[in-house]
Amino acid sequence: MDLLGAESELAPSALVEDSRHAYFMQEALSMGEKALGSGETPVGCVLVYNDQIVGRGMNDTNRSMNGTRHAEFLAIAELLRTYPRSTLQETDLYVTVEPCVMCASALKQYRIRRVYYGCANDRFGGTGGVLKLHSDPSLDPQYPVHGGLFQKEAIMLLRRFYIQENEKAPNPRPKKNRELNTSFEDKD
Ligand SMILES: [Zn+2]
Repeated sequence: MDLLGAESELAPSALVEDSRHAYFMQEALSMGEKALGSGETPVGCVLVYNDQIVGRGMNDTNRSMNGTRHAEFLAIAELLRTYPRSTLQETDLYVTVEPCVMCASALKQYRIRRVYYGCANDRFGGTGGVLKLHSDPSLDPQYPVHGGLFQKEAIMLLRRFYIQENEKAPNPRPKKNRELNTSFEDKD
């Protein structure tokens, strides 16, 4: 699928060459790594305002038993502890996985300036994976989205998580399926 979405004007490789984007996405990945270490689905993000990280989030749905505690919501809550809501209009989000439908809608209502994500979310994505809320003209201003930034690293975090989960299951699948898939062929 086209990870870039309709509004993208830059290829992911061009974004990675910009060390600023690489730095912020690596910070998001390290939040995802922290989520993995806590038994959460490894999704991490940072909010960047005036070239500074003003909010960090990782998925927290298992620990809190609250399905709305996605990385984006935690990062926004952190930002709002210090800054007024209007700051989000000048803030960019870097998140390892495409925002889900719930978060994509919230980001729109908060008028996020721009979103950069790692891998697409084919099941729940709200910025192209399933719905295209970011570019829906009917509610709130649209926001541009750039996908595919450190995509492989974001996917590897998810794969490591699903392997761990399967090992914890009462009837683990055969070992063959538990081996970490490190390939990025088109068909996998
Ligand atoms: Zn979400």
